[in-house]
Amino acid sequence: MFSLIRSADRRTRLHAVILVLCFLATTLLPTSFAASAAESPINIVEPKQTYTYEIMTRDIKALAKQYPELIRYRSAGKSEYNRDLWVMEVGRGEATVLLNGSHHAREWISTILLMEMTENIALSDKNDSKWGNYRIRDLLDHVTFQIVPMVNPDGVTLQQKGLDAFPKKDHAALLKMNGGSRNFKRWKANAKGVDLNRQYPANWEQINNPAPGPHYMNYKGKKPLEAKEAQAMFKLANDTKPTVAVSYHSSGEILYWNYKTPAANVKRDLELATDFSAMTGYKLVKPVAKPSGGGFNDWFIQHFAQPGLTPELSPSVGETSVPLANWDSIWKKNKNAVWLVGTTAVKLSMDKKRATETAGWIELKKEATAYQWPMLNSATFGLLAPDYYEVTRTKGDWIEIKTEAGLRWISDRNNRKLSADEIAALLKEREEPEAAEEPGGSVEPSPTTSPEPSASSESGATPASSASPETKENAEPSAITP
Ligand SMILES: [Zn+2]
Repeated sequence: MFSLIRSADRRTRLHAVILVLCFLATTLLPTSFAASAAESPINIVEPKQTYTYEIMTRDIKALAKQYPELIRYRSAGKSEYNRDLWVMEVGRGEATVLLNGSHHAREWISTILLMEMTENIALSDKNDSKWGNYRIRDLLDHVTFQIVPMVNPDGVTLQQKGLDAFPKKDHAALLKMNGGSRNFKRWKANAKGVDLNRQYPANWEQINNPAPGPHYMNYKGKKPLEAKEAQAMFKLANDTKPTVAVSYHSSGEILYWNYKTPAANVKRDLELATDFSAMTGYKLVKPVAKPSGGGFNDWFIQHFAQPGLTPELSPSVGETSVPLANWDSIWKKNKNAVWLVGTTAVKLSMDKKRATETAGWIELKKEATAYQWPMLNSATFGLLAPDYYEVTRTKGDWIEIKTEAGLRWISDRNNRKLSADEIAALLKEREEPEAAEEPGGSVEPSPTTSPEPSASSESGATPASSASPETKENAEPSAITP
């Protein structure tokens, strides 16, 4: 009895000592270390595994939770077996890029790529990383990626798990579509035996070598958009109107970019495809006179008259999924190509817009990069501090403001429009010298790239926008009409 009390007593004292040590450890640690440890994000996507629909669903939810400012997700629709076609919305900008993977079941390495890419985009935003001269945060202020990592969740599940993952009553039909084999590693179609990349309304009637009925590959269905998965993608593209689409497949390390592309668009589309090919090493597929249609990007290119790329991620591996041993090489090739696609989309969507004269004031709530022109690749002048600024023009999601150093373009994110009353109060305050605040904001100009915009890059702008910033700056104050 006595010894029991003593040992309990000793344990209590030991606990007290540990508590004191813990307290000392936390208080004596350098604060910067403690802060960075708390902020460093947990790595969510583990690429080197058989990446299932369930793992993807869990990771999408975790990514949206960890990066709520950047990533949102929703269901674009249901598969034939009621699985969700998740779409992640990544970014804050006006231009849309649609990325999708796993139209074909056995090509699910494309799902891993899109998931890893999403996490990498989020980390780049968090760490304020750069790609060449571009600040990725600025890119994400002007573009939103719509990412569907798994267009065909039923097919992927069948390919990875086999018959057991499906209701008994459907086993006979699935076996028949698979030529009697219980090995589903070669499966490409959805779980109804329809090849989803033969389902879109682009020359669907003349698709080459169709299977005569439901099959593990190449059956185009009874009509276009018969499969629920194709319907969901069709609706998503129509709702979001992407400027560029990339549809990832996995066989052959080649790049499709043309589908009966009209002559007027060939130069534009070939330029993006050539840059993408240079980054990834994927060989451009030469356009042919009578291409077989029905693919997602065949339809996208034809319907939207915008660039659509279809990269085949891996060397051919025959009728099975790409081995995970190929992952490192795929990631290396494709990691940065997403920035090329994003910046191209911003440029193309901005080319179509005109700058318009605008009156008003904003409160800039966060530091913002000051650009000379409303283009990601224009000269920049450092960061503008939070302050009140007068607005002179807008173009898409860019706004031009007056600073101490002249007119500058910023993203319209992270600021708030002032009401007429607020503007009146602000102008009154600025008229009274006693009440005037320290002039804040502008940073000394130090162009980081050539300040001369090329004639073509501003071709979509109104004549007013080609006026030099100095001309505009000297405009009469009477032009202000709050
Ligand atoms: Zn494919």
